[in-house]
Amino acid sequence: MRLVEARIFQGISWIRHGVLAPSWRDGKPDPADNLSFKSGTESQVRQARALAGELLGVNPAHFTHVYQVHSATVFRVTRADRGKGAFPNISQVGNGDAMVTDTTNVPISILVADCIPIFLVDPHNHAIGLAHAGWRGTAGSIVAETVRRMHECFNTDPGDLLVWIGPGIGCCCFEVGPEVIAQFRESFPGWEPYWLDRSGNINLKEINRRIALAEGIRPENIEISGDCTLCGKGYFSYRRDGAGTGHNLSALTIVE
Ligand SMILES: [Zn+2]
Repeated sequence: MRLVEARIFQGISWIRHGVLAPSWRDGKPDPADNLSFKSGTESQVRQARALAGELLGVNPAHFTHVYQVHSATVFRVTRADRGKGAFPNISQVGNGDAMVTDTTNVPISILVADCIPIFLVDPHNHAIGLAHAGWRGTAGSIVAETVRRMHECFNTDPGDLLVWIGPGIGCCCFEVGPEVIAQFRESFPGWEPYWLDRSGNINLKEINRRIALAEGIRPENIEISGDCTLCGKGYFSYRRDGAGTGHNLSALTIVE
């Protein structure tokens, strides 16, 4: 297992962050590194989560999850939520796809296997957010909802936010059906050049960058991961490996 980190958060000593991604063995991700209880046995996932906690520097019993439903619903979490969803016998925070917090040692966590994890850090107010953006969450502008929630809860100025659009399916590989194109046309009128490429693939990372810019985030404060989870060899990929594939874990926490 490896921890993939953003350059943009280097030097921010009060957070830990990253995507926990599998080792690559015999041309495929090592199933022992799967981090979702949906895709592995309980003992396998407990072991992998212990390793993930070690790499990240957090207690694996503290990973805090929402039940991901491809929505644009954002939860504010506090110490009382810590560890929800960390193990199969503990239910998640709620049905939703993003969390924000200014509480220390509550590692907000999402499971991804092609969808885009989006990390937000407010260095001024010491607050954080993490969103799960697949095509539905993107079409629902989940990153905008997350920025607005951080403003409401922590008085975050979008001009201060640092954003990492993390590893996820690239435009190279994201072929979609007509219903997805139709939804994006409805959600983003006039923005077609930003999300639709010549081959008809959708660029989820770029459209999320545009949504972030429209919320007032500065272009120099956004980093986009070049890693494609499908063709990039280094991640679990639902589209490549099908149902039952493992999941990468994205996590972000305030440590002091
Ligand atoms: Zn690709």
